[in-house]
Parts: sequence; structure tokens; C-alpha cells
Amino acid sequence: MGIAGLDQILEKGLERIDAADDEQKDILLAELKARNYVPGSVEKEYMTALWAEFRKVRAERIEKLESSFQGIPREEIAWFPKVNQNKCSGCTSCVEFCIHGVFHSSEGKSHVVRPHNCVVGNTTCRSFCPEKAITFPTHAELKEMLRSLREKHGLRT
Ligand code: SF4
Repeated sequence: MGIAGLDQILEKGLERIDAADDEQKDILLAELKARNYVPGSVEKEYMTALWAEFRKVRAERIEKLESSFQGIPREEIAWFPKVNQNKCSGCTSCVEFCIHGVFHSSEGKSHVVRPHNCVVGNTTCRSFCPEKAITFPTHAELKEMLRSLREKHGLRT
């Protein structure tokens, strides 16, 4: 079934991506009717098709949002811990603490293996290190990094 203005209708729903399903359905229905003649007898059919399409694009958008930080691809943000191998005693406190799997212990030392899993701005693991072997960029450096990346991506600064 053809729906005129499908992309715009879906985009309107995505503007309220955090809303409950019922609220999103109301938005989609209003936008659908604003752009299409929908007789009552086929409204349910239209909405079933539209809702299926919306759920698909919503899942894709959520996945994209989760792999970015404030609209910036996470891989471009150099925020993650570094482990000074000369200081690390291999106690594994950081490995056990970090639920994001940033650290891995091998050959008696901790190594950063998934740097971009690190939560941007968070330094809590550093306080668990008895050897003070973990370092991060400063928050001033992070602020400047984000400012320049926002500029690069044409995002609001
Ligand atoms: S907490 Fe510190 S000393 Fe212990 S494994 Fe991690 S980096 Fe090494």
C-alpha cells in the first residue's frame, strides 16, 4: 500500500523517539492523515503497515544513537584510560570493576582492549587503582575535543 510522505511521517515519529508506543502511534496517525486520504475502513491496515515500518527505522536510529555521543561517532572521541605498564601490579581491580569490558588482564598486567566502550567523561576506575597506574585526558581536554568534533560534524556548539 502506498503512503504519500512516508519519510516525513517516520521522521516526525522519530522526533519523539523516547515516547511511549501509544503516543508515537497517535503522532504517526495524525501525520498519516495530514498527508493521505485514509478512509476509516482501511485505517487499521494503514497503521499496521506504518507501525511495522516505524519500528524498523526506530531500531536503526536507536542503534546509531547508542554508538555515538551527542551525535559524534564514539570512535572519534579519544576518551579512554591508559594504563602505565611500569606501575601496574596486575591486581585486576580495574578489570573487575569495569562492566564495559574496557580492560583485559594478560601476562600479569592490565591492558585497555576496548577503549571506545569507555563512558565519555567517566574516570571512576582510576580511583580503584592502588598503583595510580590509570590516567585519562583532563576534562578541559575533553571539552575542547568535543567542541572541535561538534564543529567538524556541523553540530550545535
Ligand atoms: S587497577 Fe591498576 S594496578 Fe590493578 S590491574 Fe588495573 S591498572 Fe593495574
